[in-house]
Amino acid sequence: MAKTTLRLGDLTIEGQSRAGDETWFRVHPPGLAFDAGRGALPLSGAEQLFLSHGHLDHALGVPFALSQRTMHASGETRVYCPAEIAEDLNRLVRGAARLEQVDYRATVEPLAAGDRVEVGRRLLVEAFATDHVVPSLGFHLIERRRRLAAGCRHLSPAEIVARRQAGEEVEEEHEVLRLTYCGDTGAGVFAREPRLFSAQVLLLECTFLGPAARHKGRRFGHLHIEDIAEQAARFENEHLVLHHLSRRFRRRELRAEIDRLLPGVAGRTHIWGEPA
Ligand SMILES: [Zn+2]
Ligand SMILES: [Zn+2]
Repeated sequence: MAKTTLRLGDLTIEGQSRAGDETWFRVHPPGLAFDAGRGALPLSGAEQLFLSHGHLDHALGVPFALSQRTMHASGETRVYCPAEIAEDLNRLVRGAARLEQVDYRATVEPLAAGDRVEVGRRLLVEAFATDHVVPSLGFHLIERRRRLAAGCRHLSPAEIVARRQAGEEVEEEHEVLRLTYCGDTGAGVFAREPRLFSAQVLLLECTFLGPAARHKGRRFGHLHIEDIAEQAARFENEHLVLHHLSRRFRRRELRAEIDRLLPGVAGRTHIWGEPA
């Protein structure tokens, strides 16, 4: 499976994603990783890796990424994961390090929904609850920006300069939801985290298509295209990126379903791995 790169404004996303095979992404800036697939070389550039859950098509690559970073004498790595799996993930990482007889210089950091981590000068990641069959989290990439304070917007440029010179605070900080990554999740995520509909870029899994697979999503904690279509009116995102398609389906079949079921969103929907 070839790596794909998608440029959306000033964000670049690279990665691979197919259900049951492997899923990992890197997002630049800041260069962090969401999930680790089964281990891919580009992950070795990430100082921070956010793991959505412990299924091995997402998690097995964690020790491989740490091994690569150690071999290249890269700096300290922080691996963030749902708190419930931190102990087991730590054992996996320590076991791999013992096998290789090296020190990975990495820490496993437990996260719960609502926790925030600084990932750049103006960037942070916030964890939120998703809806999978094992403990799982999704992640928002948030940018802090400064803008003219609400109380100053009616002022002329000269008045603003005068206030600034008088030592008054004329700016305020606000947060922009740049990107939201949902790892594996069922439709419960839409009620749990409605903020995902307002992210500029939304990476959302879509595992199943077609009537025969309609009820598999609920059983395995995944989304069917019809679950997504039911939310069609809510997607305010500039870009919707669908990933994690089952290997039983072709990307052009998913494209046809998007055109049929989500005509209003189709023009801003990308299918991971679809030729541009
Ligand atoms: Zn998966
Ligand atoms: Zn999973």
